[in-house]
Formats: sequence, structure tokens, C-alpha cells
Amino acid sequence: MSTQYNCQKCPGYCCSYPLIPLEKRDVERLARHYDMSFDDAREAFTKEAHGRKYAMRRKKDDIYGRICRFFDTDKRSCTVYEARPGVCRSFPGEGRCGYYDFLKFERRAQDDEEFVALTNHG
Ligand code: SF4
Ligand code: SF4
Repeated sequence: MSTQYNCQKCPGYCCSYPLIPLEKRDVERLARHYDMSFDDAREAFTKEAHGRKYAMRRKKDDIYGRICRFFDTDKRSCTVYEARPGVCRSFPGEGRCGYYDFLKFERRAQDDEEFVALTNHG
């Protein structure tokens, strides 16, 4: 199946999910990447939340309210792409991204290719 979304044309909606769950190996990868100890990386990048031991820390974002701490809010892209967690590698899977479909629809409807569709994470 061909990929029907283009992350370059999206302001990074999936990076604004309230829970970005990391596994231990994701924290280990980030620690290696930044040459930090596991505990320092865990403290700097994650917190216990939503019933998860390692939930990604977030920061303020003008578009979505809050977004992943590794997101560059000016360039609208990931600053840690090579060392990003597994969940970011597998999202949204082959084929389609629901948000991108929504974004394309709204941009067509508004006749504005730059339009940013806002939705509620619920
Ligand atoms: S929401 Fe979809 S199109 Fe946007 S960055 Fe994430 S995967 Fe890419
Ligand atoms: S690590 Fe990168 S791809 Fe994953 S949520 Fe954060 S900014 Fe997005």
C-alpha cells in the first residue's frame, strides 16, 4: 500500500498526543544519544503519567497547546529523529494517517494549503 500522508506538510499533530509512551529501551536509546546516564535521561525526558512508567515529557506549543519536549516548534519537526522512541517509528503505520486525511479535507474546504486543522484529543 502506498503512503497517503506527508508529514512534511503537517504541523506534527501526532507529536502532540497527551501520552507518548516510552519503553525502557527507548529511554536507554535517548540516554546513549545524549551521552547521559539512564537515570538522568529518565528524569529529563520522561515522567510517570497515565499509568505509564516512562511517559514523554511535553512542553508548551502555540498550535496544539502541548507537544513532545523534543519537538522543534519553529521548524515543526522532531529534533531527535534518529533516536526517537519506538512508538514514533511505528506511527501511524502503513497507508493512511487519520489526521492527515482530516487536514487535507479541511485545507481543500478552506482553499488554504497552510490551514492547520485543530481537533480535540478528547
Ligand atoms: S499526524 Fe500524521 S501526517 Fe502529521 S506528522 Fe503525524 S503521522 Fe505525519
Ligand atoms: S520524539 Fe520526535 S517523533 Fe516522537 S513525539 Fe517527540 S518530536 Fe514527535
